[in-house]
Order: sequence, then structure tokens, then C-alpha cells
Amino acid sequence: MKIISINAGSSSLKFTLFNMDDESVIASGLFERIGMDGSIYSIKYNGEKISEEIAMESHTMAVQILLDKLSALSIIQSLDEIKGVGHRIVQGVDRYFESVLVTDKVIQDIDEIKDFAPLHNPGALKGILAFREVLPDVPMVCVFDTAFHQTMEPETYLYPIPYHWYSDYGVRKYGFHGTSHKYITSCVKDLLNREDFKLISCHIGNGGSICAIKNMKCVDTSMGFTPLAGIMMGTRSGDVDPSIIPYLMEKEGKNASEILDDLNKASGVLGLSECSNDLRDIVKACEEGNEKALLAKNKYVRRIVDYIAQYYVLLGGVDIIVFTAGVGENNVTVRREICEKLSCLGIKIDLDANNVRGKEIMISSPDSSIPVYVIPTDEELMIARDTLKFVNR
Ligand code: ADP
Repeated sequence: MKIISINAGSSSLKFTLFNMDDESVIASGLFERIGMDGSIYSIKYNGEKISEEIAMESHTMAVQILLDKLSALSIIQSLDEIKGVGHRIVQGVDRYFESVLVTDKVIQDIDEIKDFAPLHNPGALKGILAFREVLPDVPMVCVFDTAFHQTMEPETYLYPIPYHWYSDYGVRKYGFHGTSHKYITSCVKDLLNREDFKLISCHIGNGGSICAIKNMKCVDTSMGFTPLAGIMMGTRSGDVDPSIIPYLMEKEGKNASEILDDLNKASGVLGLSECSNDLRDIVKACEEGNEKALLAKNKYVRRIVDYIAQYYVLLGGVDIIVFTAGVGENNVTVRREICEKLSCLGIKIDLDANNVRGKEIMISSPDSSIPVYVIPTDEELMIARDTLKFVNR
């Protein structure tokens, strides 16, 4: 059975077509610059990549071209083969604690929620409406990045601010990357063959979040009202004192949203190192003696260790720690330094085992107090799995 996972942005649309009989990827691709000059798509299938610049005025046009190409390339013989479409939605606030079938009410909700995720939800909505127009009879499912975190208690998700900011305006911690943390949780369930475990899931990519999970449910997570909070990231600051915002507005002559833009796009690893947001470049620069790169890397590692230590206490001990996403799956140095800083908890890294990229493996030594794993995440597959559940109903 074929299912498509979609991640649509304001001018882009990423897709992965799965054969859910064996969960294999049949084809994947990216449509970019939709509604702009120079719109272009690329499709990967059978080990090949085709790419073409073609006018795409709207998401609907992009979806039409996508389906035409899948047919023309004989990737599908007929549109009827596509049994479901799953959409990644960044923000579902407290209205959605699990994935849902798309209805008019869901579409209206995603539109109403847009103030909470102005950069993400409107783009996702364009993707939903486009597929609705082109494939009106195919069931569609929304998979929310926030849903997995809806099990947090009020003591965790509320900020210590005037209560009515929460009750009137919904200001609270929502958490993100929930689809990835949920996927990792399901992998750990298969690995340990049980559901009663305490897990710290470290999704560290360009964006990053740490999640404390007990008995398959999220207890706490590092991102907050928006994905700006928590650990230090590629270009995002993570947690900082909010008083710096008015101070910098005055000093730099910028408005609040310009400072916020700097905290999102010019901070984190890039901001401190003044050379790159990419941890590969940073590790290399450190080896060449670049002091700002060293400072950025040390701070990056420190912020992750801070959260792991916090969640270790919160969970009352941990059964397993998992690294995932771009840095977590691939950066041998960052993983080693995090584990070394956690040695006071009895964590011991196996340097040979840790010397891997992009595959599932235990990187701790057998006498480590807590097993530490690398598990590649697969948010697209998680979206397809959730979609399949509704198709099967
Ligand atoms: P995003 O949050 O944009 O999805 P990713 O999960 O792709 O980000 O992570 C990007 C980070 O992953 C970069 O800092 C990069 O250094 C790192 N990364 C990705 N691939 C590799 C690789 N093959 N080797 C080392 N680091 C990698």
C-alpha cells in the first residue's frame, strides 16, 4: 500500500512516497520556490535524481506536477494506488494530542492556530488544501509536532508568569520535534521489548531538542512556546534571559521582531563561533585552533549535558539515552564529549563503537551505567505510519 508523507512550507513541499507493506521508500523529493521565479523540483527514485526548473505558481500546481511525474516515471501506474497522504503540522497547540483525519474543522483549527506558528502552519495548510483539490477522495492525516508533548503536566508546561497569559493567550511550553521523539520511543520499545522504560531522546540537528520520556510518554522537553527555547542550536540561541531583548532593541536600534530574528537566525553555534552553524565545520575549526569555534562547541555540548542531567533527576534515573538527527547521528566528536561530561553518572563511551555515522548502534561500553545508542530518526516514516492507521480503519 502506498502512502505519501508531506512536509509543506510557505514556498516548498517535501514528499516521501512509501510502500507501507515493507515501509520502504519508493521515491522522495523536494519542490522549491513555489510561487516565485526559478521554481524547481527534484525527485529521487531507484538511485537516480531528476531535477527540472518549471513554473509552479501555487502548491496545487506543485502537487499536480508531482503526481504527473510519478505517473510519467512509472513510479505509480494510477493515482488510485495512493491510499493516504500524511501532513506534518508544526503546531497543534493543546487542541491535538494525537494525529487526526483531515476534516473542515481541522483545517479551520490549523488556520486559527497560525499566530502560534506563523512561519510554519500557513505553509502546511497550503499543502493540505492543494492535495485536497488534486486528490479529493484520498484520506489525509495531520501529524502534529507538538502532539507527543501533550502528556506534560501543568507544572511542566506552565511558565512562572501571570497565569492569565496562559489562560487568555495560550502562553505555555508546547515542545516540538514530537514526531521524531515518538519515532525514537517506538524504536526503543522494539529494542528493549517493553514499554516501561525511562528514555532521554536527544534530537540534535540544526534545530535540536531533548525529551524526557517515561513509559512511552513525554514528561518534559527542552523546546517551549516556540522552537527557539531549550538547548543551543545551529543558529538559534536556545534559552536566554528575555531582558536582553529590550536592552538590545535600544542598543542596536532594532524592533522586537528583528532581535527575535537574530536570536533565531544569527545566534547559537553560528553566533558564538562567528564562522558556521554546521558542527562539521566547527569541529574542523577547533582542530585548527579556532578559539571561538572551540567556545561555541564547548557551550553547545554543555547545554545538552545540562538538559540530560536535569532530565536524569526528573525521571529518577534513566534506562537509555539516544542520540538522533544530523549531529546526533553523525558527529562522533560531539557525542563523545557529551558522554565524557556525563561520566559522573557512570556513563562510559566505547570509542570504537562511537566511530560510526548514520546507523543504529550502542556507543556505550558494556559496563556503562546507562546504555547510550545512536538511532537514526525517520519523521517521514512516522507520519506515514500514523496515516496508515487511519487508512486501515
Ligand atoms: P535540521 O534541523 O535542519 O533537520 P539536520 O538534522 O540535517 O538539521 O542536522 C544538521 C547538522 O547535522 C549539521 O550541523 C551537520 O553538521 C550535521 N550533519 C549532517 N550530516 C552529517 C554528516 N554526514 N557528518 C557529520 N555531521 C553531519
